[in-house]
Amino acid sequence: MTEVDLDEYLFAPAPVISLPVRGAAERFPVHRLYCVGRNYAEHAREMGHDPAREPPFFFTKPPEAVVEPGEPLPYPPATADLHHEVELVVALHRGGRDIAEADALDHVFGYAVGIDLTRRDLQGEAKKLARPWDSAKAFAASAPCSAIVPASRIGHPAAGRIALSVDGALRQEGDLAQMIWKTPEIVAALSRLWELRAGDLIFTGTPAGVGPLQRGQRIDCEIAAVGRLRTDVA
Ligand code: MN
Repeated sequence: MTEVDLDEYLFAPAPVISLPVRGAAERFPVHRLYCVGRNYAEHAREMGHDPAREPPFFFTKPPEAVVEPGEPLPYPPATADLHHEVELVVALHRGGRDIAEADALDHVFGYAVGIDLTRRDLQGEAKKLARPWDSAKAFAASAPCSAIVPASRIGHPAAGRIALSVDGALRQEGDLAQMIWKTPEIVAALSRLWELRAGDLIFTGTPAGVGPLQRGQRIDCEIAAVGRLRTDVA
């Protein structure tokens, strides 16, 4: 982290959040987290929606949501229904506005395995009252993430198994090919709404099988070619 001149600020500014990069000494500094909602048809249906009539959409999490691999996952406050959502994470090393789909993959540094943790009880209440999702989605430590694997090593995965187990029992299983919006479409659509920046992470949606986590449980996630993520709920 860069040395901070404390005479300039009233108090110490927030530290830079970052993730390790597989095969590299330099870390990936995180700017912002974008998430795609309902990007797998089976998951949209399990949540009570019709994927043919309701296209995917976006929400965000703050950088403080990142939990790096090997760190314990604290069970968050204010919920009795913490849900797992395993997702392919797209890591950008170049930003921009109005990025064309054809150019989108040039902006992608690499990929990771992530979990979009959700306080489902708070989300259910927010949906019922037509209120924002921030309290359900954007809490600290709500986005455990593996090391980032550079696209220069694995290419841009568009198919392959994505799965999550809890204490050895398979909960979620799908294929990246089932994503309704593909990575280039997601980058292009996001860049029409926000100016994207190097360091942005995009959680690309979850396959069916989301469910509750309890303290003490072990989560194992896997995405073919990208890698694994293991974490314990503290
Ligand atoms: Mn999600």
